Amino acid sequence: MSTETTHHQPFQAEVRQLLDIVINSLYTDRDIFVRELVSNAADSLEKLRHLRLTETDLFQVEREPQIEITTDSEAKTITIVDYGIGMTREELVQNLGTIAHSGTKAFLQNLEAGASAAGNVIGRFGVGFYSVFMVAEKVSVFTHSWREDGEHLCWTSDGRGGYTIEEAPGQARGCRMVIQLKEEHAEFAAAGRLKTILERYSNFVPFPILLDGERVNNVEALWLKQKSEVNDEQYTEFYKFIAHAWDEPRYRLHFSADAPLVINALLFVPRENPERYGMGQTEPGVALYCRRVLIDPKPRGLLPEWLRFVKGVIDSDDLPLNISRESMQDSALVQKLGDVLTKRLIKMLETESKGDAEKYQEFYKAFSRFLKEGVAVDDRHRDALCKLLRFESSMTEPGVLTGFDEYLSRAKEGQKEIYYLTATSRAAIEAGPYVEAFKARGLEVIFFLEPIDEYVVSSLTEVGEKRLVAASSDALDLGDAPPSEGESLSEAQTASLCEWLKETLGDSVESVRAGTRLVSSPAVALQPDGQLSPQMRAMMKAMSQDAGNAARVILEINPRHTLIRKLALREKGGDELAPLVAEQLRDNALIAAGLLDTPTAMLARMEKVLAAAL
Ligand code: ADP
Repeated sequence: MSTETTHHQPFQAEVRQLLDIVINSLYTDRDIFVRELVSNAADSLEKLRHLRLTETDLFQVEREPQIEITTDSEAKTITIVDYGIGMTREELVQNLGTIAHSGTKAFLQNLEAGASAAGNVIGRFGVGFYSVFMVAEKVSVFTHSWREDGEHLCWTSDGRGGYTIEEAPGQARGCRMVIQLKEEHAEFAAAGRLKTILERYSNFVPFPILLDGERVNNVEALWLKQKSEVNDEQYTEFYKFIAHAWDEPRYRLHFSADAPLVINALLFVPRENPERYGMGQTEPGVALYCRRVLIDPKPRGLLPEWLRFVKGVIDSDDLPLNISRESMQDSALVQKLGDVLTKRLIKMLETESKGDAEKYQEFYKAFSRFLKEGVAVDDRHRDALCKLLRFESSMTEPGVLTGFDEYLSRAKEGQKEIYYLTATSRAAIEAGPYVEAFKARGLEVIFFLEPIDEYVVSSLTEVGEKRLVAASSDALDLGDAPPSEGESLSEAQTASLCEWLKETLGDSVESVRAGTRLVSSPAVALQPDGQLSPQMRAMMKAMSQDAGNAARVILEINPRHTLIRKLALREKGGDELAPLVAEQLRDNALIAAGLLDTPTAMLARMEKVLAAAL
């Protein structure tokens, strides 16, 4: 043992470089030093908790596992005390005199390689203990290790060239950090200022934090408990706290995993969806914690954006504590975390939908937009998300919702496709000519009735290995028509009528043909694949964007329909009415398709037809 009590030692070169940056940085978020120091103290208490389990005889007289912070605004000091594991002389040198952090090291290497100026190192990487030098003129770390040979020591530095280590007789086990604030940062010695910071960052630190003798953190880290240890009321209280919410949660997911990542998460689906009330886009509501210390209350890159309605906490031991907001989105670890939780959330909702369909429908009414947004934009989770979608269909009662699973269970043997129609209302679909062909064949057609559904169907090409196809698509083979009783035009009559119709209607239709789809309508407008759907065209028009030229449609006629049969009789006679009827048939089909751009053009024609009818 050395007889000398004081040791002057230079910092490792990298530490000097880092401190240079810290001290001279213009970084404004200086209060993060509180978070760093409190979390170091909490870590130390946590390590001690573990040690006590194995080294029972070492810890007979025990101190409270708490963090005591005192302020002295006159002396401009902050003192942070923990009775944790403390540090030996070697540990002081190792931990506070060198940089072992791979992240920080990588940053410094970047810096050497001529990367951007130093300004944001703190925000980008976090600098742990050294962040204290953003505000401190001098820091003294009094410490005594739990180890039997541990000395009583005091490490002191001004954060410039080096540090000294002296003996400090009487120092209790653990650490006592005395921070002498710089004149310009003396504000941090005001208890009120510190309290605000502590409330924000350290509310879930699992050890009591006392500020000038008063406990500042109250809320427990519920997410670290066993489910059996937490009751509904505690969950609800926690939800209200973390989400700043007044309502009760609809669903919750309390999730823990040990491998491959250590994750503890407690997530809630709220009752209300504020976006529904025109409150603007909700901010992400799931906070990211690392070992109970808040990393970011509203992390953007953690969960996918469409999950912004979810509130709660994700805590992972595997995150570097000093991961910062700026670097979060690039972190593969954070993405993995988000991925795991997204999958779990989807699964939870799926299970809930099966357990209590009615409750799920309530949820769905309020939150379906988020799920649909997810289907439209989130390639990674689209397939899983599909199962959460609900809709009306040609086989449901109005207002009753069904899902793809049910649809598929009702699908006919050999049905290769899933049929849907988009429209603004169920009534509009039912009045139109499209569903009758499907009804006649016992095929179910999904009704998508919201504007956002356009995006859903355009990104959903397949569900359960069945292609999703618009019931108004031209490219459908529905097989033979069910036998019909009435008369029909002959094949020759039909061919001739189609030819005449095409001649008469000219370029306003792509082609005219007879088909087996229709039962009670005379004609239907079908859309070739790859064309904008009627609703999409309407939306683009509403946003005054060019929706291209007039829609191209194929007119399919029903040779069994009275009107068509009568038209076939008149077509040759050169009579004036036949072309008018042809045009009106086309326009009627376009109206039903939602594709008639200028309805006023048909008024004069209608008048002529009406006059002839009288
Ligand atoms: P990090 O906490 O991310 O490892 P820091 O620079 O904040 O980085 O701290 C460096 C090391 O110093 C810690 O890993 C820990 O071993 C030690 N240390 C810091 N504060 C304390 C404390 N209050 N008690 C015991 N050890 C501490």
